[in-house]
Amino acid sequence: MRLLVVEDERKVASFIKKGLEEEGYAVDLASDGEIGLTLSLDGVHDLIILDINLPKMDGLSILQELRNKKVKTPVLLLTVRAAIEDKVIGLDTGADDYLTKPFAFQELLARVRALLRRRADAESPLLQVADLTLDPATRLVSRGTQEIALTAKEFALLSYFMRNPGRVLTRTMIAEHVWDYDFDPMTNVIDVYVNYLRKKIEAGGEPKLIHTVRGVGYVMKVE
Ligand code: CA
Repeated sequence: MRLLVVEDERKVASFIKKGLEEEGYAVDLASDGEIGLTLSLDGVHDLIILDINLPKMDGLSILQELRNKKVKTPVLLLTVRAAIEDKVIGLDTGADDYLTKPFAFQELLARVRALLRRRADAESPLLQVADLTLDPATRLVSRGTQEIALTAKEFALLSYFMRNPGRVLTRTMIAEHVWDYDFDPMTNVIDVYVNYLRKKIEAGGEPKLIHTVRGVGYVMKVE
């Protein structure tokens, strides 16, 4: 899951980014409204956390522009306490939820999870490939009856594979969906993580599910 945070206050932005990364999300930052709009329109994010008061272009204008352009990425607005009007306009414009500053990180996280879950539920409640299952709501992964413990990053990577069974995923695609803009494509981090995942989901000698496509990337399929 890759999130975009549009927030000009550096301390708030890095606090959000750090916290979300610890939960396994890839996080991009935009420090003003124009950069925020440009990155939002890329369409690679699963959720946008959007501050309303921003330099160059305010959050409500960005939201308006996104919805006009039919970009349906869920948006969580950050507002200040006094500005009730902003919340009303924001929800009318197509925000999915809002959070009032200052907020506790746990509350932000709960709302992020709820929005992503709502989206996951709309897609499919339970992901399954062969006897491997992943429940986006509970974050429970099992192979047969064996439960598998994954790190946050492994979980994000496996979710991406399981949402795209049978489709060859290039390293670029994987980087775009599971890592952020700072990801260095010259490293072998993706291959390292794929190997961690393989070891865990094939720990009992089960049939291989993640296959290497030489020179291209990986595909999840049943042989
Ligand atoms: Ca601000």
